Amino acid sequence: MAGKLLIGYDVECESAGVAENFLTCAGEIHKRLNAPATLFVVGKVLDKYPQAFRKAQQLGIFDFQQHTYSHVNLKPVKIEGELKKAAGKWRISRELKKANGALKRHLGLSAEGLTTPYTHHLGLSDRPDLLKILRKAGVRFVRSFGRDRNDQTNISLDLQPFWYDNQGFPEILEFPVQAWKGEYFKGYDDYLCANLDYIAEHDLVWSFLQHDSSHHMRGNEIKDPQLHTIERLIRYAKDKGIILELYKDYYRRLLNDLDPNETPKAG
Ligand SMILES: [Zn+2]
Repeated sequence: MAGKLLIGYDVECESAGVAENFLTCAGEIHKRLNAPATLFVVGKVLDKYPQAFRKAQQLGIFDFQQHTYSHVNLKPVKIEGELKKAAGKWRISRELKKANGALKRHLGLSAEGLTTPYTHHLGLSDRPDLLKILRKAGVRFVRSFGRDRNDQTNISLDLQPFWYDNQGFPEILEFPVQAWKGEYFKGYDDYLCANLDYIAEHDLVWSFLQHDSSHHMRGNEIKDPQLHTIERLIRYAKDKGIILELYKDYYRRLLNDLDPNETPKAG
């Protein structure tokens, strides 16, 4: 029993210095600890700070996927009691294409993964129309299921990745974003370690989400400028024998029907 940790950061903060600082700090830690991670990038932030992303890319430890071009919402969702409307389908399609364009232009990459802003109950299980738009935009794996029926986050770690085959999209894989209940609340580090204990014990995959901005500022206080929390998360996972992997590698092996516990081959 080992478990898998898929670290996926949403990089989306437009404020000066935040995404750049995050990329520098996270890059240093992930490189030093040889810990792969995936950055789900908002296209316009990449357009704004392309140098910082290119530097991160050169480290050879990150994969880059998308988080739409300007952080648009795909499905209606209630956040803190307020209903957030979904963007129109035309706009969603355009957003995915524009984000892909930015990744291509600055990093020479074609994205195949998406985190939908805010995440939703059931992910896109009830929206084959949106899955169709995703497929057309080249999306092959998605993190869109992060809320329960009351639109509350912190869904169970037992909810594991699944294919959208029932919806007619057998090549698209959902990675539910489990156990997300905010970041840097009191006891956050211990909470993360307890989740790692659980996935190791039950041999589960954890699609872990953190944001580029959460460690940075709350009011005037810098929470965790050196990202010590992330360093602790990685070290704790490795000590327990949990394997860290990129979303795209996990996706490929499942697609090819390989044993998910097999070590991925290089290249
Ligand atoms: Zn976001």
